[in-house]
Amino acid sequence: MKREPSILIIGAGFAGLGMALELKRRGLSNFTILEKAADLGGVWRENTYPGAACDVPSPLYSWSFEPKSDWPRRFSEQRDIHGYMVDVAEKYDLPAKIEFGVEVTDAEFDEANGVWRVSTTDGVTHIADVLIPAVGQLSRPAMPNLPGIDTFTGAAFHSAEWDHSVDLTGKRVACIGTGASAIQYIPRIQPQVEHLTLFQRSAAWVLPKFDREYSALHHAAFKHVPITQLAERFAIWSFFEVLALALTDIPAMKAPVVAIADRHRLAQVPDETLRAKLTPDYAAGCKRGLFSNEYFPALSQPNVHVETGAIAEVTPNGIRTADGVEHAVDVIVYGTGFKGTEFLAPMNIYGLGGRKLADAWSAEGARAYLGMSVPDFPNLFMMYGPNTNVGSGSIIYMLEAQSRYIRQAVEYLSGQPGRFLSARPEAEQSWDDWLQKRLKDTPWNFCSSWYRNASGRITNNWPGATVLFRWKTRQFDPSNYDEKRAERR
Ligand code: NAP
Repeated sequence: MKREPSILIIGAGFAGLGMALELKRRGLSNFTILEKAADLGGVWRENTYPGAACDVPSPLYSWSFEPKSDWPRRFSEQRDIHGYMVDVAEKYDLPAKIEFGVEVTDAEFDEANGVWRVSTTDGVTHIADVLIPAVGQLSRPAMPNLPGIDTFTGAAFHSAEWDHSVDLTGKRVACIGTGASAIQYIPRIQPQVEHLTLFQRSAAWVLPKFDREYSALHHAAFKHVPITQLAERFAIWSFFEVLALALTDIPAMKAPVVAIADRHRLAQVPDETLRAKLTPDYAAGCKRGLFSNEYFPALSQPNVHVETGAIAEVTPNGIRTADGVEHAVDVIVYGTGFKGTEFLAPMNIYGLGGRKLADAWSAEGARAYLGMSVPDFPNLFMMYGPNTNVGSGSIIYMLEAQSRYIRQAVEYLSGQPGRFLSARPEAEQSWDDWLQKRLKDTPWNFCSSWYRNASGRITNNWPGATVLFRWKTRQFDPSNYDEKRAERR
């Protein structure tokens, strides 16, 4: 006897929508998506800062089964990516499956009935056989813990919560942070502001960006001869796989990448003092590598100062550095990243015996078999879970591998009504041993970044080429799971 399990997906970003698409395309439709916001899109709904774009080219940063032939350019901007997500979701009637404005607070596994009881801020309890959190790793902005941060009297906001009501024209603006977000908005706002002070704690490794507008000819070729876009997708995928191997399996391949970054900086920053400031003092690849042709030229403009002194405090008028100088500004932009290592927070998730997921992870940080399954948390499969982020490549490719695997698990459960599965501790341990062995030799160990938690464990990144993850997750194998029958079913 077969019975399609009921499924709750949490989040309507690329992960949650991708999961829903995989189910729907395979004829499984007994699912609901709970989304806390009023619209779908995840980080591509939230991040609207000037210049927000993806530094992975669109032919690869899109669902493999839904190529879009008319991307305006190779590296698409936020509104085009968000528009693509909306279009594909509508094509598959997904909005009807999404409950918007519903935020999950708690999820508890009811062992006797073999179901998840999921509580939301509107006071409703949702019940489902399978729970798929797809809340991303970068959905919760991190503000720095700076003394006096609340005393500033001007406008201040995080890059992911850009306040478009603040007109930066003619203003003195402080930008804190030099990550993938900052490198995109700094060149956009620099021509507009009177003065920009960039507070840089670490210089970024920056590579040239091979961007281009797609012409009408490209669009026609992509539409009528799809192999042309597939060829571009394959070329881009191969390029990122090579970079991923340079980070993990073949470190010797890093030398040419470093040489390209050094040449890029030399060509774009004529001033020696500034170039010295912008030269990283840590191993390439340790923090996320960035792509930009506009960042260095923007920092070379006369209305920009790159401040490398440590921030001592925020004052009512600006920012004071450790040397005692107060930098007076009108606006502070915090490009200080996200709480990437706090997986699934702030939701409270309780598994077998009432065990709390945060407690299960308290010793070392988040970990999961294949990045998806945690022992004692039955029928829970995470999308974009621990160690599934890419140092190089498209996260959508990784998410597609996860959604296929989880769909197979759902199909398996369809044939076992009333039963539930949780990852066997031995399977999870041997997966983690293998991961840690590979992570030991990666450059991510040699600096601080959102890839590592406070104890130094790399909880976020996948150590290898993306095709290796796809290979490891190609087939759901029930022998790696403990299977139990719910008493009351
Ligand atoms: P991020 O990479 O975590 O960068 C945060 C920046 O803030 C770092 O430069 C950090 O310095 C600095 N910072 C944090 N606290 C500070 C403090 N107290 N004082 C001074 N500086 C401080 O954040 P992000 O730029 O938002 O990017 C996060 C991730 O989002 C990226 O790695 C990427 O995965 C994703 N993203 C992707 C794209 C894309 O195009 N695909 C675009 C934007 C974001 P340290 O380095 O010294 O810690």
